[in-house]
Amino acid sequence: MSTNRGTTHRTIILGGGMSGLLAAWHLQRRGLEIEVWEASPAVGGWAQTLSWPGPQGEPGFLERGPQSLRVGRGSALARLLRELNLELRPSSPKGPRWLGKEGRRHPSPATIIGLLQAPGIGPGDWARMLVEPFIPTGNGADETLHAFFARRLGTGFARELLPALVAGVLAAPPERISAGALPRLRCLEAMGGLLIGGLRAGPEHDRLPLGGTGALARALATAVGCVRTRRPALALEPLPGGRWRIHGDSLISDTDAVVLALPSPVVSELLGTMAPVAAQALEAIPRLDLRVWHSRHAMVKGWERGIGLLIHPPEGRGLLGAVSFASDDPRGVPGLIQVRTYVGGAFPVDPPLEAWPGVFGELQRWLPELSDPVQVREEPCPAAFPLMEPGHDARVAGLLTEFPPNLHWVGADRFGPGIPNLAEGIEGWARTLAL
Ligand SMILES: Cc1cc2nc3c(=O)[nH]c(=O)nc-3n(C[C@H](O)[C@H](O)[C@H](O)COP(=O)(O)OP(=O)(O)OC[C@H]3O[C@@H](n4cnc5c(N)ncnc54)[C@H](O)[C@@H]3O)c2cc1C
Repeated sequence: MSTNRGTTHRTIILGGGMSGLLAAWHLQRRGLEIEVWEASPAVGGWAQTLSWPGPQGEPGFLERGPQSLRVGRGSALARLLRELNLELRPSSPKGPRWLGKEGRRHPSPATIIGLLQAPGIGPGDWARMLVEPFIPTGNGADETLHAFFARRLGTGFARELLPALVAGVLAAPPERISAGALPRLRCLEAMGGLLIGGLRAGPEHDRLPLGGTGALARALATAVGCVRTRRPALALEPLPGGRWRIHGDSLISDTDAVVLALPSPVVSELLGTMAPVAAQALEAIPRLDLRVWHSRHAMVKGWERGIGLLIHPPEGRGLLGAVSFASDDPRGVPGLIQVRTYVGGAFPVDPPLEAWPGVFGELQRWLPELSDPVQVREEPCPAAFPLMEPGHDARVAGLLTEFPPNLHWVGADRFGPGIPNLAEGIEGWARTLAL
C-alpha cells in the first residue's frame, strides 16, 4: 500500500462526473492544487457518450445521460463552453414535436400553434396565460412545480399540459417536485415573469460538442489535468488540524480538504458516523430509477431533422416520451433514425413495459410510422435523478451546517439535476469558498 502524506492546500475531489470536473476546473482557477478520484475507468459519470456501432459495424454512439444541453445567454455553461473552445452543434430535434394525450398526438404546446390547439385548454385558459406578466412574484415560500405554474399560468395549464412537460425532463409528477428543482424559474419570475423574464434573459439554445457530452467531460478532464480513474474512495478519516485521510482501494492519501462530488447515497455512506445527521438527511433524498431504451429504425420521411414526443402521464403506462437524433447528428448511423425512449422515473410502469416488446408496442401506439427496430439496446439508469421534493432546499441547508470542516459537497442533489444547474451552482460555490 502506498501512502501519500499530502502537501499544503491540496484538495482531493471525489467523483469524476460533471460535478467533480466542474469543481476541479473552478478550484484550480482559484489556485488550489487539486486531484480528482473517479471510481470507474472513464470520466463523465452520466455524461458519457458510449460507442454503439451500427448494424454493419459503422461508427455510432449513444448518450448515457444528456442527449442535448440547454445553454442560456451569459450562463455559466456558456462561459465554460467558450473557455474550453469546443466546436458546438445544435443538439435538439428540429423536426416535429408532439404531446401525446387523449390517445393521440398533438403539436407540442411549447409552440404558439401547439398551445392554441392543446387538448383540454380553451379560451379561458389562454386569457389566463396572457395575464402572466401581471401576476405578482411569489412570497418565497417553498411550493411545488404544480403550484408555481398554477399560480403563474393558471390551473388549466398546470393540470392539462404541465405533467407531460415535467415528466419528460424530471421524470416525476409536478405535484411531487419543488419549484426550486428548476432554479431558472425563480430567476425568470424575479425578472418580471416567465414571459417578460424569458424575453429579458434571452433564448436558450440546445448545443453540444461534436463528440457529445462525453467530449465535454473529456475536454474538462484534459484541461484540469490531474484526474485519476479506477480510483474509488472507500472511507474518509478525519486527521488532526482539520485535515483528511482518504482510504482508496490500495492507496491512502492525506489532504487539506475534500470535495464530495458524488451521488447522495455515496456521500451518506462516506460520512457515516462522522456526521450522522447529514448522512441521514442525504440518505433520505429519494432517487429515481429511469429506464432508457435506445433503438435504430429505418428513417421515416419527414423525421430527418429529429422528433420529440412527450406523453401525458399516466397515458403512456409508464412510458414518458421519446426523442431522436437528427439524421446529420454525427452520433447516429446514416440512413437510420435513432430513438431514445424513457420509461419509469417516479411513475408506475405497467408490467408489459418491463421489457422491450411492451415498450415498443406502447411506442408504436404513439408513433405508428416507426418500423421494427434494426437494433435495440437498454441503458438502465438506476438512482439517476434526485427527486427534489418540497422541503428539499431546507433539508440541504440544514445538512450543510452539519458538515465537518474542510469537507465540501457539490452535485445534482444540491444544485439541481441539469448540467446547466451544476455549472451555475458550482461556479458560484467555488467563488464564495473561503480559501
Ligand atoms: C438518462 C439521463 C438523462 C439526462 N438528461 C439530461 C439533460 O437532458 N440535460 C441535463 O442538463 N442533464 C441531464 N441529465 C442529468 C445529468 O446527466 C446529471 O445531473 C449529471 O451528469 C450529474 O453529474 P454528477 O457528477 O453530479 O453525478 P454523476 O454523473 O453520477 O457522477 C458521479 C461520479 O462519481 C463516481 N463515483 C461514485 N462513487 C465513487 C467513489 N466512492 N469514489 C470515487 N468516485 C465515485 C461515479 O463513477 C461517477 O462518475 C440526465 C441524466 C440521465 C441519467
